[in-house]
Amino acid sequence: MEKECADVKCPIHGSLSTRGQVFEGIVVSDKMQSTVVVEMKYSKKVRKYGRYMHASSRISAHNPPCISAKTGDTVKVMECRKLSKTVAFTVVEKMSGQENKTEKPKKKAVKKSGKKKAVKKTARKTLKEE
Ligand SMILES: [Zn+2]
Repeated sequence: MEKECADVKCPIHGSLSTRGQVFEGIVVSDKMQSTVVVEMKYSKKVRKYGRYMHASSRISAHNPPCISAKTGDTVKVMECRKLSKTVAFTVVEKMSGQENKTEKPKKKAVKKSGKKKAVKKTARKTLKEE
């Protein structure tokens, strides 16, 4: 990272050490002060039907000022010590921000040529984006 910050809880410039689990997810909310909500998508096997269903879980993670991830960013999150009641993860890396957003509209434009209703399409898009 080029930017430096004075955040003690920054994994790069501060004294915070990371260990344990590593996740990649998408930032869903950046409204909190130096905290971000990250949503992770995964597929979960349903035994009864022998198929997979989409599942997601949300984690609140510390967002150091040198990274300053914003809503829509794909982000790498690592486990650390408990920083607050709900925060036990910290954002380590911004994987991509605007790149994904520019790619998706092109795919949507192709889909619009189909005959199906627009309302259903939007529902499907959101499912696929997950
Ligand atoms: Zn920093």
